Amino acid sequence: MLNIILFGAPGCGKGTQSELLEKKYGLKHVSTGQIIRNEIASKTPLGLEMESYISRGELAPDNIVIEMVEHYLEDAKSADIKGTIFDGFPRTEHQASVFDTVLAQRDMKVDVMIYMDVPEEELVQRILLRGKDSGRADDASEDVIRNRIKIYNAQTAVVAQHYLVQEKYEAVDSVGTIDEVFERICNVIDRYI
Ligand code: ADP
Repeated sequence: MLNIILFGAPGCGKGTQSELLEKKYGLKHVSTGQIIRNEIASKTPLGLEMESYISRGELAPDNIVIEMVEHYLEDAKSADIKGTIFDGFPRTEHQASVFDTVLAQRDMKVDVMIYMDVPEEELVQRILLRGKDSGRADDASEDVIRNRIKIYNAQTAVVAQHYLVQEKYEAVDSVGTIDEVFERICNVIDRYI
């Protein structure tokens, strides 16, 4: 099973590219942000708890997110899938190290982490544009977007180092059309399959 992490700041295009990759390679796309939004929409106790974090642009607590991913891995183990694209996870150093452990417990591992590189000002513009029709509360306000990028720089950017030392890190220039970026990402993935 191929496990790919698509990594990068909010607005870098992880969701868009994950969907294209899911189709092309038959991999399962798992977005922790989307799982959280589904919980919020269904008004589950977990969703209600997480709504306050997301609306401020903060990260959800590590233990909750890790539990969600473990649930997914349990299902994935028994299902006949080729592999997974993890989008938006891991987002902290703690998540990354626990992820190594829970994967190893199931005889799995991360194969590659692909960093989607986009300059910060472009990120803000992209998310504001997306907010016009995504209906996502965390995309609508520039303050919340800037806070998400601040938190990304403070807590998430270090995760790249985790995979760099494991020699699983690949950077992809992610400025350009969706198709251009897709082609660059596919060129990386093709080396791993
Ligand atoms: P984006 O990458 O554009 O910020 P996501 O859909 O990946 O969008 O995530 C939306 C929000 O969900 C994040 O701002 C964060 O609050 C929460 N979230 C998603 N994944 C995680 C995670 N792994 N750990 C903590 N919080 C998360």
